Amino acid sequence: MSEQQNFDVVVIGAGPAGYHAAIRAAQLGLKTACIDAALGKDGKPALGGTCLRVGCIPSKALLDSSRQFWNMGHLFGDHGISFKDAQMDVGQMVGRKDKIVKQFTGGIAMLFKANKVSAFYGFGTLHKGNVVKVRQHDGSEVELKGTNVIIAAGSDSIELPFAKFDGEAIVDNAGALDFESVPKRLGVIGAGVIGLELGSVWKRLGAEVTILEALPDFLAAADAEVAKTAAREFKKQGLDIRLGAKVSKAEVKGKGKSKEVHLTYTDGKGEQSIVVDKLLVAVGRRAASKNLLADGTGVKLDDRGRIEVDEHCHTGVDGVWAIGDCVRGPMLAHKGFEEGIAVAELIAGLPGHVNLDTIPWVIYTEPEIAWVGKTEQQLKDEGTPYKTGSFPFAAIGRAVAMGEPAGFVKVIAHEETDRVLGMHLVGVGVSELVHEGVLTMEFNGSADDLARICHAHPTLSEAIHDAAMAVSKRAIHKA
Ligand code: FAD
Repeated sequence: MSEQQNFDVVVIGAGPAGYHAAIRAAQLGLKTACIDAALGKDGKPALGGTCLRVGCIPSKALLDSSRQFWNMGHLFGDHGISFKDAQMDVGQMVGRKDKIVKQFTGGIAMLFKANKVSAFYGFGTLHKGNVVKVRQHDGSEVELKGTNVIIAAGSDSIELPFAKFDGEAIVDNAGALDFESVPKRLGVIGAGVIGLELGSVWKRLGAEVTILEALPDFLAAADAEVAKTAAREFKKQGLDIRLGAKVSKAEVKGKGKSKEVHLTYTDGKGEQSIVVDKLLVAVGRRAASKNLLADGTGVKLDDRGRIEVDEHCHTGVDGVWAIGDCVRGPMLAHKGFEEGIAVAELIAGLPGHVNLDTIPWVIYTEPEIAWVGKTEQQLKDEGTPYKTGSFPFAAIGRAVAMGEPAGFVKVIAHEETDRVLGMHLVGVGVSELVHEGVLTMEFNGSADDLARICHAHPTLSEAIHDAAMAVSKRAIHKA
């Protein structure tokens, strides 16, 4: 056992939450260590967490590759572009994705070096007295003591007891980012963000994709009209989304490349079955709290295994904080970024705060789906009076010129004060546009403020301007 090393801040986990916390703490002059257990595809330590290794970035790399391929068959013709025998080289597509992952995970290691964050590669367990024991990959152990410890352990895919991941026929997100060829039939359990995004990737490349969702409503967390529009567009693309479908069995039959997964599910009509070549289980993620806490630390877990924290991400134990996917709130990388920065600043005696009410949500399908703030249903349920204004991309010159007229923007404002309470978007490029809603809400802006701000023409953002105008029934381009 080596002797104890002392730090101002010890961060467990170098995902989006942890690496932001570590770098910001180091920038503020705090002696900082960051521990991460993950290995990359090459078996070497890889910083950046789920997001950079098997989440946000690799999924977007594949979404972009597959979108280019899909557009050749569905958009290029309208522009007068023709070609013969377009082929997708899946190996090259996945290799491109791996290169991007390596660039970004390596980038975090460089940022740690530049900011003098000490990186430790191995599994960390918090013991009482703010001591973190790290079992390193070579089997040795180091002991780090932090005046402050920030837990940023992230989350893991939830496994279904009847559909255990085998890395071949039944996979989680990591497996579905690495198929060697396009599966003929892909089954997906869960029509959430991950199921829809990865289902879209393989559908665009030619797989028959069936998504089984236990809930009766599609995208229940989104605005109902947005969900309806998205469902219509996905159907046109050939994504077979079956709602109210509760899967009870997944049997792998056959060997090697001829393996099949036989799925049994029940829906309103009774017991059903389908056979697929690959099954992606995307039923959610759970906080990675296993083996993280030794006895006696005083850190508490809630009923979902998440670390309990207050509104400042403090666990209630002196000097121990927790951020990102392993605590309450949306499991989104940018929520973790902000919590990491806020906690580092709080430790340094600066003000730090994250407004969970203005975290944007994005689903990177085609059309994209994005929102911030409350839905109409949530406002109805809480009895808040509101008014809305919507505007379709079909009446926006830029969207039509691009050949991407699907979707709309909806602005929701308080009936009396006009303050913006939510913005809901479905359409091309809305992952970027949603930030106008975030900004307006952060500054307590009104729909009228948005309507009076000059938006460049012709741009997609004009849909926000027109939707804001429509809140007060003065949209110019609406018949
Ligand atoms: P993580 O990224 O999970 O990082 C935690 C790190 O801590 C890991 O590297 C882990 O190895 C390490 N660790 C855990 N326990 C220990 C320990 N005891 N000792 C040492 N190391 C430990 N979010 C978005 O905002 N946008 C997206 O587009 C998006 N796309 C996604 C696509 C997919 C397919 C998936 C799976 C997720 C996606 N997410 C997306 C979610 C996003 O990846 C997570 O919200 C984000 O990574 C959480 O950050 P984190 O730092 O809390 O945890």
